[in-house]
Amino acid sequence: MSVKFYCDINLLRLCKWLRFLGFDTVTYPELSKSGIQNLCIKDRRVFLTRNKKLHKLLCKVEIISDENYILQLQAILAKYKYEINSISSRCMKCNKKLKRINNDAHLNLKAKSPNLLDSIPKDYYQELSYCPKCGNFYWKGSHYNNMLEVINTIS
Ligand SMILES: [Zn+2]
Repeated sequence: MSVKFYCDINLLRLCKWLRFLGFDTVTYPELSKSGIQNLCIKDRRVFLTRNKKLHKLLCKVEIISDENYILQLQAILAKYKYEINSISSRCMKCNKKLKRINNDAHLNLKAKSPNLLDSIPKDYYQELSYCPKCGNFYWKGSHYNNMLEVINTIS
């Protein structure tokens, strides 16, 4: 099973990138340190933080020393491997697994909210997916390609 993460509040950008790569990654700004510790132990999550003092927590902790998110990501990927097939399988906003939109669902969607699909380039309809929790849409356009290029450069 693939590794799961908890990102501290100071690592939100890293959090989005880890989700992009398909890692189950959560963050809850309201959680106390002991709350984070308990959650990480229960869920077997690795706690990622920039706060060196937190290495004493009883869960598995990785101290992230770099300020730059690309270097942070590089440090994580040197230790934890992502799966190519998992890229873009999670919502970057809320961590939920994305659902692919097949042709039937696509027609349904078009009937329900034609304006929504108008905003997405037609070339990407085949690779469209959405988040069942927050309703965000994802497709493999330029944003996706740019992120993938960054990943390929550093991993
Ligand atoms: Zn979502």
